Amino acid sequence: MKNFLFPIIILAIFSACSNSSETTASEPEGPLPLHSSFSYTEEDLDELIDGVTGIDAPSREAIMTAVKANPETFFDLMEEMLKEDPSLFILVDKQHPLESSYIPPDLVNMDDISLFKKNKSAMQIRRICLPSLIEMNQAAEEEGLELLHSSCYRSYVYQVKTYNYWVEQLGKEEADKVSAYPGKSQHQLGLALDFGSIDDSYAETAEGAWQLENAWKYGWSLSFPEGKEELTGYSYECWHYRYIGKAAARVEKEYFHGLQQNLLTFWKEKEEDIRSHKLSESPVQES
Ligand SMILES: [Zn+2]
Repeated sequence: MKNFLFPIIILAIFSACSNSSETTASEPEGPLPLHSSFSYTEEDLDELIDGVTGIDAPSREAIMTAVKANPETFFDLMEEMLKEDPSLFILVDKQHPLESSYIPPDLVNMDDISLFKKNKSAMQIRRICLPSLIEMNQAAEEEGLELLHSSCYRSYVYQVKTYNYWVEQLGKEEADKVSAYPGKSQHQLGLALDFGSIDDSYAETAEGAWQLENAWKYGWSLSFPEGKEELTGYSYECWHYRYIGKAAARVEKEYFHGLQQNLLTFWKEKEEDIRSHKLSESPVQES
């Protein structure tokens, strides 16, 4: 019996090895994708990141280094961003104004939400950011802090009045540094919020310091960081946060060095490219 089985076992081992080498040989050649949901290979990163014309070369290099260090998480987060409402990522700045007719689709009156501390009545904000705003308020409260909501949605018409007021007070050149020209304010999106005193002293408060450290965890991003006036076009505003969602806020922190401007520029130029590299769900494998 033993003598009879021995050649069969040898044959089975040989056959298994032979099948395995055939499988390896039939696999497609070339670099493997960096993530199971996208067709990007490491070589494609040059086009994806270095190809962004609106971001300067040193920043692109820093982003590239961060992405190469952890592409898995980067593309996980890209996948999450693709599922979000695209209006969260609209780039609005001095070069990219909104139409005067743009009104966000889901404005709610903050008077109806008793949870928030507000410094005036009838403020409006988009419904889409409410759950995370509530979450951020609750987290602050657990630390014994209370966030004061001071300014939210501003219509195009309101921004015309605000801008004209500052021009009267400071002259046009100075007004352009502190107030957005109508159509060029993130407040028209209904996604931007000013907190506290709306001046530099907010950075010195416990609430201001806590938000600077923690707002990203709830999807809120500081739009105009300190020392980045040339990039954003605005003076440092420690009180002004914009909701971009949790995935994007994490991308901004971990890959874009806290620069919302660069992240939204990247997304404006590359969203279509990212969508076109998304692989469809893999079909159930037949046995
Ligand atoms: Zn603001």
